[in-house]
Amino acid sequence: MAEVVIIGAGPAGIAAAELLTAHGRQVTLIDEGAQAGGQGYRRPASGLDLDMAGLMGSEARKYARLHARFAALRPRIDYRPGTLAWAIDGKTLHLLSEGVATTLGFERLLLATGAMDRVAPFPGWTKPGVFTLGGAQVALKDQGCLIGRRVAFLGSSPLLALAAQQYRKLGGEVAVIADTTPFAGKLAALPGLLRAPRTLLRGAFYLGGALLAGVPLRHGATPLAVEGDGQVQALLLRDRNGREQRFACDAIALGYGLKPETQLAELAGARLAFDETYRLWLPQADAEGRAAPGLYLAGDGLAIGGADAAEDSGVVAASAVLADLGGAAPPGLVARRRRLQRLRRFQRSLAQAFAWPVAQIRALPDEVVLCRCENIGIGAVREAMARELGPAELNRVKAITRCGMGRCQGRVCGPALLEIVAGVAELSGAAAGRLRAQAPVKPLALSAAGEPR
Ligand SMILES: Cc1cc2nc3c(=O)[nH]c(=O)nc-3n(C[C@H](O)[C@H](O)[C@H](O)COP(=O)(O)OP(=O)(O)OC[C@H]3O[C@@H](n4cnc5c(N)ncnc54)[C@H](O)[C@@H]3O)c2cc1C
Repeated sequence: MAEVVIIGAGPAGIAAAELLTAHGRQVTLIDEGAQAGGQGYRRPASGLDLDMAGLMGSEARKYARLHARFAALRPRIDYRPGTLAWAIDGKTLHLLSEGVATTLGFERLLLATGAMDRVAPFPGWTKPGVFTLGGAQVALKDQGCLIGRRVAFLGSSPLLALAAQQYRKLGGEVAVIADTTPFAGKLAALPGLLRAPRTLLRGAFYLGGALLAGVPLRHGATPLAVEGDGQVQALLLRDRNGREQRFACDAIALGYGLKPETQLAELAGARLAFDETYRLWLPQADAEGRAAPGLYLAGDGLAIGGADAAEDSGVVAASAVLADLGGAAPPGLVARRRRLQRLRRFQRSLAQAFAWPVAQIRALPDEVVLCRCENIGIGAVREAMARELGPAELNRVKAITRCGMGRCQGRVCGPALLEIVAGVAELSGAAAGRLRAQAPVKPLALSAAGEPR
């Protein structure tokens, strides 16, 4: 049985593992990725010689430092890359590595599973050539390739400007940065954004660079259609003045912020609550990251906060593990906690500045695909709900329409499904419900789920 298992080798998991091993604890660090670093500090696929320092820009030093720290940590832990944790059963993890299923018992579990892209559908979003923003960044950092030669960045996220800048750096053309939140929303959130002035300045710098390069910026945009059959040829928008605009492009990067990966936390016994600002179900934990007896949460998987906050929360959660094992608090913990709180408050203001487009989603026409795994349109959900005794809760809608029942298990369509259901039934987000997590949390072959070795 492992003493402490950490799932996720991003900044949160690495920082937690460092502190625990420094205090003599046995750590097993599991990650489905082939290399450590997580999402933001992803390394290129082995054999690829990419200029990561250039690509990471102002984050280059932190990127290099994290990887150097991990290299020093690696010999002191049981590190298992390329290993998916797909289920939790009491104090047993179900793992899959190179097609082989195994189990691992643990005394304490620290989940640092990070986040994934949140997607809002719009007409044409399932066409080839439309990528998530994170996917566009993975293509860049992992494979050194662009999703297109001329890319439109669409959505509501501070990462739109960052990714557009990274694309320009590697020779890509940016057709437009189209933000669905009105500029007034940014101004309203400004007092809260001033809590992290350097990050705010960095965002302004990326936007300023785009403007100087002649990239069109649109705030308060409504996406109308993707032109092109079999290949993206243009993005059609309605601007804030109601004018239709067409931006020729051969790919679209779609990003509406991030959504914590909460399935394992839920299977391990964490409670989730609906958060009105993010309009997401988020796992609940105390200020030290304790979510249930022996269960600790850290990083973006607990609360979206960025890489610095992820590191801090990794240290805070690891300190809670040490305290529960009878150890003393490590030095500097109070300062870490304070910075973490400040960064999380900043992130909340970011969520207001880059709002999830509730009204746009609820106004989408019936024919827009909501669940791309099962090819279910929004109309099918509305129709099921309009029936006598029709469903008015997410899990019943799923059972009747199959929306959320496919490969992604609702990880992609869940947030938009919630808005459709809440809108039709005139319910609060909390009352509309939550697609319950079920194992396997990610797709795996039936053969792998057979007898564990
Ligand atoms: C696609 C994407 C791209 C991003 N790009 C940027 C960027 O360019 N710049 C920036 O500032 N921020 C970026 N972010 C945000 C940034 O990743 C985070 O703020 C930061 O990395 C959070 O650190 P973390 O340790 O909490 O999680 P992460 O860094 O996300 O690490 C979580 C790790 O958990 C692993 N994991 C998750 N589930 C399982 C499982 N079931 N089994 C095994 N392993 C699992 C993942 O493989 C991952 O390595 C990005 C986020 C995403 C989702």
